[in-house]
Amino acid sequence: MMETEPDPDWGLATLGIRAAEMRSDEQEHSAPIYATSSFVFASAAEAAARFAGEQPGNIYSRFTNPTVRAFERRLAAMEGGEACLATASGMAAVMTTCMALLQSGDEIIASDALFGSTTNFFAAQLPRFGIETSFVSPTDPAAWRDAVTSRTRLLFVETPSNPLTRLSDIAAIAEIAHGCGAALVVDNCFCTPALQRPLALGADLVIHSATKYLDGQGRCVGGAVVGDAERVHGRIFRFLRNTGACMSPFNAWVFLKGLETLSLRMRAHCDNAAQVARWLAAHPGIERVHYPGLEEHPQHALARAQQRGFGGIVSFDVRGGRDAAWRLIDATRMISITANLGDARTTITHPATTTHARLTPAQRAAAGVGDGLIRLAVGLEDTHDIIADLARGLGS
Ligand SMILES: *Cc1c(COP(=O)(O)O)cnc(C)c1O
Repeated sequence: MMETEPDPDWGLATLGIRAAEMRSDEQEHSAPIYATSSFVFASAAEAAARFAGEQPGNIYSRFTNPTVRAFERRLAAMEGGEACLATASGMAAVMTTCMALLQSGDEIIASDALFGSTTNFFAAQLPRFGIETSFVSPTDPAAWRDAVTSRTRLLFVETPSNPLTRLSDIAAIAEIAHGCGAALVVDNCFCTPALQRPLALGADLVIHSATKYLDGQGRCVGGAVVGDAERVHGRIFRFLRNTGACMSPFNAWVFLKGLETLSLRMRAHCDNAAQVARWLAAHPGIERVHYPGLEEHPQHALARAQQRGFGGIVSFDVRGGRDAAWRLIDATRMISITANLGDARTTITHPATTTHARLTPAQRAAAGVGDGLIRLAVGLEDTHDIIADLARGLGS
């Protein structure tokens, strides 16, 4: 079995293709899928040594698996982290990280614009285990500082946010975390390491939903957490191996293939999204476009400083509220009406009646999710076809 060590000088595209390349004695060029639940020992003494941790090696695929490890090592190299653990889903990464690092009495400070299930996990599940969360504005570091108590152990942010593409200043929030002895966790799902490397900006851990851009074609559900070896291979691994939210080897292989084209795809997502955002911004039927790449975005300067591209998510308010938004969505013929994102195929969502429907109208208004808001995850089709599909329902 051969595994390549990443060269410290490699750029991100090379890391995505060449880091942790794996080859068995058969010398196959594409990584093998180790579809096995357990591994065989040469003797009773070897089995005992493996279980005692005296001899490195695989035991059981809930603990480690070679295909899963290749994905973990490659993603760690791309994020610039020492260690990575793959999980069954993005939410499994969030849950495993929080449960491994926190205990009853600890507190979290989190952005009030997180992925819906993450918000629900913090607000409705963790309190049952004695862990409370205060939610603050992602764009206001002072609010994070004000929320710190003697029990704060974890700060959690997602930038840019969904659906309004609000940015958080990762370096500023990392400083607040470290000032109170807490860890900063960044959900890097929207940017991926191709556009943003939170660890280099001071974050302690990065969370991924691999389901989105890391896969890139909407095939598998998976997740990962990346960071220092002490936390990731220590407490988080110990929790994961005992609780079981591990990634399947087949999914790891799909994500490993996804990483090979990540750098190229993210550049294309950014280019397409910028063109669509500019077209929308100039359209009289559109009230406002939310895209960090537009100069009128309130945090355009932060996006330039913190990210290496502006991403594939564009949100916009259609004039005429819900009826007009639904008309636009229903008039599309090519774009997929689905809540997933990070796919080669462009997807369209009406947040007020889907992802944010469970909020009260007042909560939705506070979150900036109006009835005319549409979220577009711009895919890799030809831009003129995406624009033509949007134009159908805009009367132009
Ligand atoms: C989808 C998503 C998640 C959850 O990931 P799953 O793989 O669906 O469990 C977490 N954070 C963000 C930003 C997401 O978009």
